[in-house]
Amino acid sequence: MSLLIDNIGELVTNDDGDGLLGLRRDVALVADGDRVAWIGPRRHAPAADARIDAGGAAVLPGFVDSHAHLVFAGDRAEEFGARMAGEPYTGGGIRTTMAATRAAADDELLGNAARLVAEMRRQGTTTVEIKSGYGLNVADEARSLRLARELTSETTFLGAHVVPAGHDPDDYVALVTGEMLDACAPYSKWVDVFCDRGAFDGDQAREILTAGIKRGLLPRLHANQLTEGPGVQLAVEVGAASADHCTHLSDADVAALAGSQTVATLLPGAEFSTRSPYPDARRLIDAGVRVALATDCNPGSSYTTSMPFCIALAVRDMRMTPAEAVHAATAGGALALRRDDVGRLRPGAKADLTVLDAPSHLHLAYRPGVPLIRTVLHNGVAQ
Ligand SMILES: [Zn+2]
Repeated sequence: MSLLIDNIGELVTNDDGDGLLGLRRDVALVADGDRVAWIGPRRHAPAADARIDAGGAAVLPGFVDSHAHLVFAGDRAEEFGARMAGEPYTGGGIRTTMAATRAAADDELLGNAARLVAEMRRQGTTTVEIKSGYGLNVADEARSLRLARELTSETTFLGAHVVPAGHDPDDYVALVTGEMLDACAPYSKWVDVFCDRGAFDGDQAREILTAGIKRGLLPRLHANQLTEGPGVQLAVEVGAASADHCTHLSDADVAALAGSQTVATLLPGAEFSTRSPYPDARRLIDAGVRVALATDCNPGSSYTTSMPFCIALAVRDMRMTPAEAVHAATAGGALALRRDDVGRLRPGAKADLTVLDAPSHLHLAYRPGVPLIRTVLHNGVAQ
């Protein structure tokens, strides 16, 4: 089955074309099966089994949401309300979600996560990473990852989200690096740690990441969200694909990222929902750091599934240009997941794309809150 998308006014390729986004104008694209087969001038477009007329609209690679916590039960709307009434965010609410998650049946957890993935898809996201981290015991962490695997290949073992109440921190690290890792590794591509105030320190995080790497998992890290600390430099030290949050950075942190293959994944939904200062994306980009944008979708500190919302925040409040934000939400996310088959549109890439109800990528930040995603193609199939 081949599909011609004709009459594309602006195509974001992140590959071959003008500027950062590799823009091409007045082109057509052919998908064959789940792959992009051809991109070129409209008049040269080959025949295909089916045709979509983009009507001069912009077409983008599907968004790559490289950071999400979707396996959980319940929500924390009351906590959000209290925080907006003046209480600070401490991260302690993770334990509330842990209790609800442990009490939930498999089909409730999977149904909730699938609902959120569908919500993402409607907003143009075609690749999503899903973390565990609300089970925090051997059985419930392994269950979370087994369920996440039904929705994505990008699964992340985050047994080290917080130390559950009543556990000695050293004993818990031993559990995470031992029996819990053994149970979770078969369902996981990545290993992650929340390295921050109130969670795990640098030595604990290094021990957990190292144990995961020895089991064949790839490292990524929650780093420097709440305060400056060792997280970002640890991420660089262990060769992590991504250091996520990067809100509080020293000059040495920025320099370490700039000289590394580690992507800085910025999660402005978290700062929005906790009414906290945003990361300084301009400082990172100007230093040469590669940047991704993701939702951090979770019931406590960022309960959004919308990459367009994150793009708008990044442009308005993090001083990213619209092109930088769109690039970070597509090619940047792919880099943060070490993927070269998504986040860009070129022959051979996955046929994952969105047709906007707008003539250019600029409209994503220019028209915040407006549903501009007209059509989503995932694996070459219109959703
Ligand atoms: Zn997170």
